[in-house]
Amino acid sequence: MATFGTLSDRLTETFRNLRTKGKLTPADVDGTVREIRRALLDADVALPVVKEFTAKVRERALGDEVNKALNPAQQVVQIVNEELVGILGGQQRRLQFAKTPPTVIMLAGLQGSGKTTFAGKLAKMLEKDGHTPLLVACDLQRPNAVNQLQVVAERAGAAIYAPEPGNGVGNPVKVAKDGVEFAKQKQHDIVIIDTAGRLGVDAELMKQAADIRKATDPDEVLFVIDAMIGQDAVNTAKAFQEGVDFTGVVLSKLDGDARGGAALSVASVTGRPIIFASTGEGLEDVEPFHPDRMASRILD
Ligand code: GDP
Repeated sequence: MATFGTLSDRLTETFRNLRTKGKLTPADVDGTVREIRRALLDADVALPVVKEFTAKVRERALGDEVNKALNPAQQVVQIVNEELVGILGGQQRRLQFAKTPPTVIMLAGLQGSGKTTFAGKLAKMLEKDGHTPLLVACDLQRPNAVNQLQVVAERAGAAIYAPEPGNGVGNPVKVAKDGVEFAKQKQHDIVIIDTAGRLGVDAELMKQAADIRKATDPDEVLFVIDAMIGQDAVNTAKAFQEGVDFTGVVLSKLDGDARGGAALSVASVTGRPIIFASTGEGLEDVEPFHPDRMASRILD
C-alpha cells in the first residue's frame, strides 16, 4: 500500500539528517520540527492538527527524556512515532458486536466516498468469519443506488433487503427498521445499512441519517471518507460527527495518490478510531487499520 508515500520520504530524509548528530541543540530540534510540519502540510494534514502535533513533539524533544537519552536523535524519532500512533488511535480497534444479534452497522458519508463498495467488502469479510450479513438499501435518493447495492451484494454473495427497484420515493427510515426486523426473522446475525450521501454536507441528508440512527440503534456507525479529500477532511468529518455521531471511521481509496493526511486529520479532530482501510475497487481490497503500522510507514 503506497499510503503516506510522500510524507514518508520527507520524514525519512529529515530523520537521516538528525541521526548523524550526537547531542541535539534547540536549533536542531526546531529544524526537525519545521521539516515535520512541512511534510505533514504537504500530506494535506489539516493546519490545526499539524500545529498541535508539532507543538507536542517540540515540547517533548526539548525536554529531559531527550536530553538524557543515549541517542537523542533516535529518541526524537521515537517521540514522533508515539505521537503519530496516539493520534491515529493507539491500539487497533475492532468492530463491536451486539450481545444479542443482530449487530447493526450503519454506514454514512458523502456520495462517492466508497460507502456502497465498502458495504460489499464488509459483508464479504464478515461472511469469511462465519457471519450471515444482510445488506439494507437505504439510499433512496439516487435512482441507481439500490441497484448498485444489489450488484455489490451479488458480488459479495450476501443477502440484501431493498425496496422494489424504481420505487425510489420510499421512506429510508422505514426501510432501515423493516430491514432490521427482516434480519431477525431470517436469522441474519449482522445488518449493514447503506445510507444516502450527497456531494456536499447537507442538512436534510444529515437529518435522515440521524433518523435512521435513532430508529435502528446501531452498534456501530461507520463514517466512510475518501482519503483523497485532503484539507476538506476536517470539516466533513466534524459535520458527520455532529450529525450522526459516528463510532468509527473507514478510510477509503488509500490505493490512490492519497497523501494520507486525512487519516491524521480525521482521527485528531473527531477522536474516533479508524477501523478499516479500503484500498481498491475489488471487494477483497480492504484491511483492518493498524495505527502503529501506519505510523511506522510514515517514518520508514
Ligand atoms: P458511495 O457513493 O459512497 O456509495 O461510493 P461507491 O461505493 O459507489 O464508490 C464510488 C466510486 O469509488 C466507485 O467507482 C468505486 O468503485 C470507487 N471506490 C470505492 N472504494 C474504493 C477504493 O478503496 N479505492 C478505489 N480506487 N476506488 C474505490
